[in-house]
Amino acid sequence: MAFHFKWKHVSSSVDGEYVIKLIRYDTLDEILEKHYGCSIADLKKSRHFGFDGNNMEWEFTFEEMYENIQIMGCYGMAVNKEEIHFWVDVNGVDPSDFIGMIAHEKGHLTRPFKRDPMKEEFKAERYGDAASFAFCIAKEIELF
Ligand SMILES: [Zn+2]
Repeated sequence: MAFHFKWKHVSSSVDGEYVIKLIRYDTLDEILEKHYGCSIADLKKSRHFGFDGNNMEWEFTFEEMYENIQIMGCYGMAVNKEEIHFWVDVNGVDPSDFIGMIAHEKGHLTRPFKRDPMKEEFKAERYGDAASFAFCIAKEIELF
């Protein structure tokens, strides 16, 4: 079951306020099935590709990807350049990972959109990095 809610956001970088649709999923399986458009059983047969920080491509199985997401405790995706879908294990996630993930997806909702999917991914990742960095500094100075 996914919980839908809207977040009114006011930003100095755009005129006025705007609404971001947020969809929170109860389980990791649910959001992965939504993301890939097929069942977990079908996903188990699939292989996945990614890039590390040095732009090196690597391949991994669905089980490896699934285990890594569970360890991280959160997963997100931007949909239609206007929605953020996410799953979070509130007891297992490091807050800086969650904040970085949400910021990454917010980056995907932010213009300019890149035609090259890799460039779009790197753009979004810069948002995530900046947010995680700011969170760690705030924690370091004991802001909260
Ligand atoms: Zn992304």
